Amino acid sequence: MSIRILLVEDEPSIAEIVEFALANEGFQISWRALARDAEIELLATPYDLVVLDLGLPDGSGLELLKRIRRHSEVPVTILSARNAELDRVLGLELGADDYVTKPFSPRELAARVKAILKRTIRRDSAAPLSPSRQAANRTWFELDEDRARINFCGGPLELTRYEYLILKTLLAQPERIFSRQQLMDRVWSDPLASFERSVDTHIKTLRAKLREIDPERDPIRTHRGLGYSVRITD
Ligand code: CA
Repeated sequence: MSIRILLVEDEPSIAEIVEFALANEGFQISWRALARDAEIELLATPYDLVVLDLGLPDGSGLELLKRIRRHSEVPVTILSARNAELDRVLGLELGADDYVTKPFSPRELAARVKAILKRTIRRDSAAPLSPSRQAANRTWFELDEDRARINFCGGPLELTRYEYLILKTLLAQPERIFSRQQLMDRVWSDPLASFERSVDTHIKTLRAKLREIDPERDPIRTHRGLGYSVRITD
């Protein structure tokens, strides 16, 4: 269940930079150079976020944003060379979630996109993974909360209490990045009693157990300086 981002940008060199920065974070990127094509694509496919250039060959990105908002709440990050205050205010008033000015730092753009996704994905998937949703998505994991057990790719994991609680927490919101502190707050009844590093230790042993079942998949991702997330399907 990877996160899909639609990039609407007519300059190939800029599109390439954005695509690289976001793909590097594990996001799945589709690129459209025309407003018309982007609109058709958005009606056909659900996206988690749109990165939108304002100066497009076949119209203004603001116009496109206005049309998107008639039928969709998808988060929109405007990426524009125009730093006019009017554009910025208008963009945000029309329902954009963020406004990044060119030239931009690819890392900053990626961080801002991630921050928006963190907010919106938490809002959308606050409910824990239900068995029916697991089946529908054919995920790698099966969570049996009554027996405090987790299967991975059909094989039972032999987990310690903390490994189980960490994995269960990650699985409640796949792809969401949890900081070490957030994991500690959710898993340890007395977070002050243990050092942050022990999260790393448990993740390490957890990974080894996942590898024993499937050496290839490696579903837990480390986000340097941010924390951990879990992928539950290809
Ligand atoms: Ca442009």
